[in-house]
Amino acid sequence: MGSQTKTEQEIITCSRCHKQVAWNFATSRRNVGYPENGKICDHCENMEGFVDMSNCLSDDVIHWEYSFHQLCCGNKDQDGHEEFEKFLAFRKHIGKNDPPYWEIERKIWLKMFPRGIFSLEMKQKYVEVEASWEEKFFSKKK
Ligand SMILES: [Zn+2]
Repeated sequence: MGSQTKTEQEIITCSRCHKQVAWNFATSRRNVGYPENGKICDHCENMEGFVDMSNCLSDDVIHWEYSFHQLCCGNKDQDGHEEFEKFLAFRKHIGKNDPPYWEIERKIWLKMFPRGIFSLEMKQKYVEVEASWEEKFFSKKK
């Protein structure tokens, strides 16, 4: 980033909307798996800001965040789906009022498999996962 001057602007494909743009140094707030995945356009940077300020994730935002986490937040050391979970867990931790995790996963599941069945067992699994978040991500163990 340091050696870039204003006269030689880098053209990037935004990791979020996949549009080609002149990069204005906007970076994702998410924990991307590779630094280049963090380069996003100004519009998407603003959208992330609005998402982070919003009290509740809408359906569109759930799918937008999920696909970004899946595509851009994994690498050999971290898993994109777990980063999505951490993102949701952090929002809950600071008092946001998003839908329960099982409902978010149900929305994602039904978008991928419109004729699929989201079973009671799957619901129960995600209820248990959500119940473990505080301990898993925020407990201060010695
Ligand atoms: Zn974008």
